Amino acid sequence: MPGLPEDQIVGSVLDAIAEQRLPAGTKLGEQALSDLFGCNRANVRRALATLAAQHVVELRPNRGAYVMTPSPREARNVFQARRAIERTIAREAAGRSTPEDIAFLRRNITEEAQAKATGDKPGELRASRDFHLRLARIAGNDVLERFLSELTMRSTLILGLYSPQGSSCCAEDEHARIVDALERADSEALVSLTTSHLEHLEAGLNFDDKPRAKLTLEDQLAPWRDPSQAV
Ligand SMILES: [Zn+2]
Repeated sequence: MPGLPEDQIVGSVLDAIAEQRLPAGTKLGEQALSDLFGCNRANVRRALATLAAQHVVELRPNRGAYVMTPSPREARNVFQARRAIERTIAREAAGRSTPEDIAFLRRNITEEAQAKATGDKPGELRASRDFHLRLARIAGNDVLERFLSELTMRSTLILGLYSPQGSSCCAEDEHARIVDALERADSEALVSLTTSHLEHLEAGLNFDDKPRAKLTLEDQLAPWRDPSQAV
């Protein structure tokens, strides 16, 4: 992987969170990360500070860094913020999409459906997140796109904690109707479909759920390792 060690750590942790390989509450030990990435602890601390600024990692005094565990209240706030931002994105995106955008989004829906059908959870989560981020790109506001990128990451943690199957719950027919409205440049339909889609996502949350079992940091960040090699 090219780039600074801290950027590699940030990228790997974000990818792992986005694919629910690193669930909420996982301890991110400085020593374990520096061993895993072959870098010093100063690099690790810079990476953890960057992740904390993005609200996906929590730095607890004298206890170290943990993947953020959003409370039910934070979960509600994240979805409220997503509704506000994605309604604006929907309004701005209407009339701005190119044939390439429409083709990308239709392909994305097929990929998400295939991932769901084959039980490829990381692929499903990635596709679902890419769908929402592409709409932000089409809207042409990079500030909103950056906010949404952080909010979708936090949503993945929330869904992992509070959604019964830990799934993305992005219904493919809802995404398909959003693309239809985008193609028709129907701004009103786009805003209302986006709103109801996010309401359905939020309605699927169950705050009585217990947090899921944790894997080790090494298992989650190094999925390419052969488990039979473990000692
Ligand atoms: Zn969706």
